[in-house]
Amino acid sequence: MKSSRSYFYWFTFGIFSLPILGWLGTQVDTKSQVHVVNAAAKTDDVATKGDAADDSCIYINQNDSSKSLVIGTDKKSGLGIYDLSGKRVQDFPDGKMNNVDIRYGFPLNNSSLPLIAANNRTTNTIDFYYVDQTSNLVNRLDVGTHNALIEAYGSCMYQNKISKKYYVFVTSKTGEIAQFEISSSDSKLKLEKVRSLKVDSKSEACTVDDDLNKLYVAEEAVGIWQFNANVDSGEERKLIDKVSEGGHLIPDVEGLAIYRLQNNEGYLLASSQGENSFNIYDRVTGNFLGKFQVSYNGHMIENTDGIDITSHDLGTNFPFGMIVVQDGNKTHDKQSFKFVSWNELAIKFSPSLKRTVSDPILPLQL
Ligand code: CA
Ligand code: CA
Ligand code: CA
Ligand code: CA
Repeated sequence: MKSSRSYFYWFTFGIFSLPILGWLGTQVDTKSQVHVVNAAAKTDDVATKGDAADDSCIYINQNDSSKSLVIGTDKKSGLGIYDLSGKRVQDFPDGKMNNVDIRYGFPLNNSSLPLIAANNRTTNTIDFYYVDQTSNLVNRLDVGTHNALIEAYGSCMYQNKISKKYYVFVTSKTGEIAQFEISSSDSKLKLEKVRSLKVDSKSEACTVDDDLNKLYVAEEAVGIWQFNANVDSGEERKLIDKVSEGGHLIPDVEGLAIYRLQNNEGYLLASSQGENSFNIYDRVTGNFLGKFQVSYNGHMIENTDGIDITSHDLGTNFPFGMIVVQDGNKTHDKQSFKFVSWNELAIKFSPSLKRTVSDPILPLQL
């Protein structure tokens, strides 16, 4: 009798406890936890009022990384250049710039330049700038001269590591994607369309993993697509994550960026705008690893949009690199960008995310 009551007890205990144990299991699942990280700095407000700040790119000064710069778009007026304290040091009121990106070592005028490309929605052109490495100032190169051919909504750059050729991808509200080769001759920059790709609806953000030749495109209401960035490859695409059931994104899917480690390891970051947060994926497998939000002075950044990241040591505030995020807050009449230390975010995860101090995107210094 005693033993049969005991069986009944354990059977009943099991029936009622399993769902509780399951619930506890989900509570300790770090992937479903949203980590909150504090930003170390805020930039000066962008030049114009309202929803104006959008995307950014980080220029790494190889000689003195504390002199690195952030190039931010003001999609109502142009580009703003910021130092690492957030102070705006230069302004380029050259048009409605939406996305901006950078690649190093571009050959022009017998020199090797950090080249910046932005899509200008005023003139529907791809506009170019470069960083003068002596003065540490951004200079205009070709503005308003290179037609984007499709109605350019977003853009990102790519360098093929084998051919050394440079490219810019242009995205659009129709889902069309154009790949242009950027070359130079006689001190002139040339842009030539070399390939077309397509998703099915509005796409803005894109980023390219140069080491793995992967182009990522955010189809805003659908998810993150991966294409082969190599100009000779096909149009096959793979869905990395989605907004629908089983996915980890709340539309719009916005900014994309890659934290590069040596040996092609690292992370893909994506802005999940509908929940004011960012997702982290393994750079190689595309596996979802978790989410984070950014706060600054007790205020959560909102309407998460453009993002850029580097793994380079940018000084005491950013020893393992920096994330730049746009803050689309509605309580201020002007928006800004916030700078986050990768280290502060990495240690929130268990085990902590990997870190490095030298971004492999930089050309080797001779
Ligand atoms: Ca925005
Ligand atoms: Ca960018
Ligand atoms: Ca958008
Ligand atoms: Ca955007």
